[in-house]
Amino acid sequence: MRYVMLCLACLVLVLAGCGTSSPPPAAATEVPTEAPTVEATATTEAAPSEEITGTEEMTGTEEMTSTEEMTSAEEMTSTEEMTSTGEMTGTEQMTGTEGMTGTEATGAAGAGERSATAELQNATGDTVGTATFTQAGDGPVQIHVEVTGLTDAQPGPHGIHIHETGACTPDFAAAGGHFNPTGAQHGLDNANGPHAGDLPNIEFADDGSATYDTTTDLITLGEGDSSLFDADGSALVIHADADDQMTDPSGNSGDRIACGVIMQGAGQ
Ligand code: ZN
Repeated sequence: MRYVMLCLACLVLVLAGCGTSSPPPAAATEVPTEAPTVEATATTEAAPSEEITGTEEMTGTEEMTSTEEMTSAEEMTSTEEMTSTGEMTGTEQMTGTEGMTGTEATGAAGAGERSATAELQNATGDTVGTATFTQAGDGPVQIHVEVTGLTDAQPGPHGIHIHETGACTPDFAAAGGHFNPTGAQHGLDNANGPHAGDLPNIEFADDGSATYDTTTDLITLGEGDSSLFDADGSALVIHADADDQMTDPSGNSGDRIACGVIMQGAGQ
């Protein structure tokens, strides 16, 4: 029994000794090793043998830190990704949109900004002016004419028309009659008119110059029955006299004193 008691006492002592000796070193080891700031928490919760707890807390702190870092990193990454993606998307959309818009605009602009020109010559072949035709979409055609030195033209109003054939040689008769795809009679003031090629008179100054602007929705630079660019094209002709806008088939506008074949603009 004594032996047993001694042994028990020894065990108690040993256990006590172990219990007494173990914690301090562990705590002593923890405290300095672990972060000073965490010491309070580790000491409070992990005093005797809660190294695991301390470790878990540290781990938790590290996890929190790493989580925060990960979160912030993820946020940065996601933000960057979002930003870059947004930028890429935006760029692509802008580019795509601009490209599409540009392409469509070009196509639409081509359709929306159709143009044509005619170099006007007098009866002896001298260039006396230029006519420019522009059309937005399927809208009306704007016609701008500038003439200088057409001394064959007396001051005052002169008939000017789009003729049915794109030819001015061997003489201006080659241009044929007024452009008239609908089979109407001549004259803007004619109840049975007008020809699609009929236009208001052009006014000449004393020096044989004229600047003229008009708009017509009776013709198109695009396709269709009213297109100036049918199989044989069309021509712009200025006459010696004023157009009365009534008398069929030419308004009593007299001889042809200037003529130009209407040519489609570049890119059409
Ligand atoms: Zn006519």
